[in-house]
Amino acid sequence: MSIEFCDPVSCVAAGCTATVCTGKGVPSNHTLYTRSAGVIPGGVNSSIRAFKAVGGEPYIVARGEGAHVIDVEGKRYIDLVQSYGAVILGHAHPSITAALQAAAVDGTSFGAPTPREMKLAEAIRERVPSCERVRLMNSGTEATSTAVRLARGATGRKRIITFAGNFHGATDALLAAGGSGVATLGLPGTAGVPEEAVANTLVVPYNVVPEIGNDVAAVIVEPIAANMGVVAPAPGFLEGLRAACDKAGALLIFDEVITGFRIGMGGAQAKYDVRPDITCFGKVIGGGLPIGAIGGSRAVMENLSPLGKVFHAGTLAGNPLATAAGLAALNELTQDVYMELGARARQLATLLRDACTSAGITAQFPVVGTLVGAFFGSHVPTNFDEAKKTDEKMYAKFFHAMLSEGVAMAPGAYEALFVGVGHTDSVMDQLAAAAHRAAHAVRSFEKETI
Ligand SMILES: *Cc1c(COP(=O)(O)O)cnc(C)c1O
Repeated sequence: MSIEFCDPVSCVAAGCTATVCTGKGVPSNHTLYTRSAGVIPGGVNSSIRAFKAVGGEPYIVARGEGAHVIDVEGKRYIDLVQSYGAVILGHAHPSITAALQAAAVDGTSFGAPTPREMKLAEAIRERVPSCERVRLMNSGTEATSTAVRLARGATGRKRIITFAGNFHGATDALLAAGGSGVATLGLPGTAGVPEEAVANTLVVPYNVVPEIGNDVAAVIVEPIAANMGVVAPAPGFLEGLRAACDKAGALLIFDEVITGFRIGMGGAQAKYDVRPDITCFGKVIGGGLPIGAIGGSRAVMENLSPLGKVFHAGTLAGNPLATAAGLAALNELTQDVYMELGARARQLATLLRDACTSAGITAQFPVVGTLVGAFFGSHVPTNFDEAKKTDEKMYAKFFHAMLSEGVAMAPGAYEALFVGVGHTDSVMDQLAAAAHRAAHAVRSFEKETI
């Protein structure tokens, strides 16, 4: 019989035990990764998944449940990736699965308005007061690129200011390179982006309020940076941006694709009490399905077509499955749940810190709300230059040691660690023990190689 991956039923049938896969008829991670790489460039559909930053080959996920993912060989990992924050209730949460099943039988896409998209937009507006109007789309990338177009259209200006180390998805105008502690203009951040596409994108250091000229359409910022590790906004930074934007007549865009509905119901804007003109969402609001959204004041948002002159459209925008899953997720996310996630985040940072300290490894695990960062070095970075000075090689070693102990962190030193509803007390206990063993394994390996 042919088996796609190791699962108790088909593997037992093929002569494997349920807990340890004997491999009979079951392809290994390596086999499947090699086969994938034969058809998908690099074997991945999002670059970071390829392990290039940490070395080695990725595990191929067969399925997930709660805090765990299970690879095709049947190995279970405590998952701190959680789809880079898109999954907050844990994998295959019953509410999400039920909502998806109910939605799927009604049909999966129509090209006409549906009640579910209206309800999700209302649910976002209820929780985030700056979003008087909400437009749904398919990814965070689409949200940031639409937000930039909207800001340019609404102000009649071209220039955009972004911050080094912030990430806004794979959209040309926002893939500009940041210089070392200085403002840079018009430098492409990747091959394939012509200078012209970033000619109006000014990249400045994070956590310093830049000068904002009267030609600036918008400043786009991650209100809590979570793509250069986790870096908190300095006191007064977000308030300073708000004031400087108001003075220059520029719009302030908060990219809350990670922080939206992860930090709390109102996102980072509620935590820091700063109201942006446009907010970008993604990740959590889709309950693990592809989604993006922008929200803002009625005056700004009504510049979007069909009411205004700024075009936006999408065949699958407001998709019935994604909006069903998103609504189910938001309904589960009460204040109590966020309190619990905050406590879990602090617990995660503490257990990682304890593990590293006991093994003599210098590391920082900053916690901002429900987000946890991991930096190997003696300082908590406040911007991209400082983040880049942390020890990426040590991150890679710790990453692999954790993976061997059955804990999946993101395969890159500049990602956040995500805990969700699935990370129960017993999972956290196992995590603490695994982290302790991993840190000591790294330490003894270091000693041997000196
Ligand atoms: C993930 C992310 C994006 C891009 O979202 P996609 O859904 O991957 O396109 C944009 N901004 C931030 C802050 C993100 O973390």
